[in-house]
Amino acid sequence: MALKLTFFGGAGIVTGSNFLVENDTGAQVLLDCGMEQGRDYIMEDTYGPFPFEAAELSAVVITHAHLDHVGRGPKLMKAGYTGKIYMTAPTRDLSEAILRDSVNILAQEAEQRGIAPLYEAVDVDAFLAHIETVEYHEEKEIGKGVSVYLRNTGHILGSASVRLKDADGTTFALTSDIGNSPSVLLPDAEPVTDAEAILIESVYGDRTNPEKENREQLLGETLARAIARGGTILMPAFSIERTQVLLYEIGKLIEAGTIPEIPVFLDSPLAIAVTNVYEKWGPTYFKKERFEKNLFDFPFLTETRSREESEDIEKAAGVKIIMAGAGMSHGGRIGKWEQRYLPEETTTLLIVGYQAPGTPGRLLQDGAKHVRIQGREVEVRATTETLHGWSGHADRDGLLRFAEACLPTAKTFFVGLGEPASQRFLAQRIHDYLGTKAIVAVKGESFRIAKGRVIRL
Ligand SMILES: [Zn+2]
Repeated sequence: MALKLTFFGGAGIVTGSNFLVENDTGAQVLLDCGMEQGRDYIMEDTYGPFPFEAAELSAVVITHAHLDHVGRGPKLMKAGYTGKIYMTAPTRDLSEAILRDSVNILAQEAEQRGIAPLYEAVDVDAFLAHIETVEYHEEKEIGKGVSVYLRNTGHILGSASVRLKDADGTTFALTSDIGNSPSVLLPDAEPVTDAEAILIESVYGDRTNPEKENREQLLGETLARAIARGGTILMPAFSIERTQVLLYEIGKLIEAGTIPEIPVFLDSPLAIAVTNVYEKWGPTYFKKERFEKNLFDFPFLTETRSREESEDIEKAAGVKIIMAGAGMSHGGRIGKWEQRYLPEETTTLLIVGYQAPGTPGRLLQDGAKHVRIQGREVEVRATTETLHGWSGHADRDGLLRFAEACLPTAKTFFVGLGEPASQRFLAQRIHDYLGTKAIVAVKGESFRIAKGRVIRL
């Protein structure tokens, strides 16, 4: 009796999380069904057929609502899956917001490339209709002898690690993305203390994040400088978690008098929908000291949903902050504001987070004086500032501490969800520092897990 694990995505690459776990009695449990994104965007893997029979799967578990973990979920329904999809309640609500938002983007992409869309609204509806929510710390039978147990990973609201247990006691866990604990809003990531084999993420497996220590101070100083320039402050927004964290932090800076009260416009229907989900579930899922009601009910904040409301932002004279998607300036409403305000010397472009090579955000971060944004050449006279300390991922030391806390039950780590160099670096450190077996996940490979041992198939 044993479990069989296959890496179908998220091996040698940060995005496209997709793993299959099977047992000897016919269970086929798919963990995550994400999209490949960014520099490594692989059309074929996203749009091509699944490397498994969707109709044959016995269950699907989704760890969290980022598109690189849930983004191909509706495609599963299109491919004939009819079973249940397990996730936490916040992940369900966030998935609904992000998947509905992606339908239009995918339709545009399909038209530009002359291909069929990856999925349509009807597939999103089918996906949502098959969701069954699971609480953290609830052992849940999901059929054919397998049970599932979710724990908080402190990465985004509702994010979970998944521990599977077979009827014979064999255990395997996927950490999925591990938060940069302590996080502003969420409780610390919980170690997985009951799995003999664990697939651990390694996005920052080979990097540290020194800015985290004084990130609040850096945010305050950077905003103060931007306000002194007297113009508009553009913040390309990552819709889930980062936007809510930054709103909360800006609120604190204003309350403390570090910066004056200036208007903040949240100009992103997706980020607004996500913030509503944060307001709904915050009192249950945030860390205790953030349990206040209406946490994001700021007097300085204006949410602009419609196009007309968005247009009106320009009428607000003086210093203002505009937060709009997309986070790497590669789409969404931020492009319109960059076209409008980057040619002005008083403007500040405040980048908070990783910018993939080739995106407009990366070109701006690297100091380009002319950038093509949404089809228009834009001259950049604005000042660009970058803050690195707000990453939602544990750094290399955080990942090693997490792995250590999973001992002694964990006998083997698979290191995945990272670039190859990052995976190798973390695997080497787990081996050297913890004396524990660590295997670099390679796409397409399978392993048998039984009695505390793993065998490559
Ligand atoms: Zn994530």
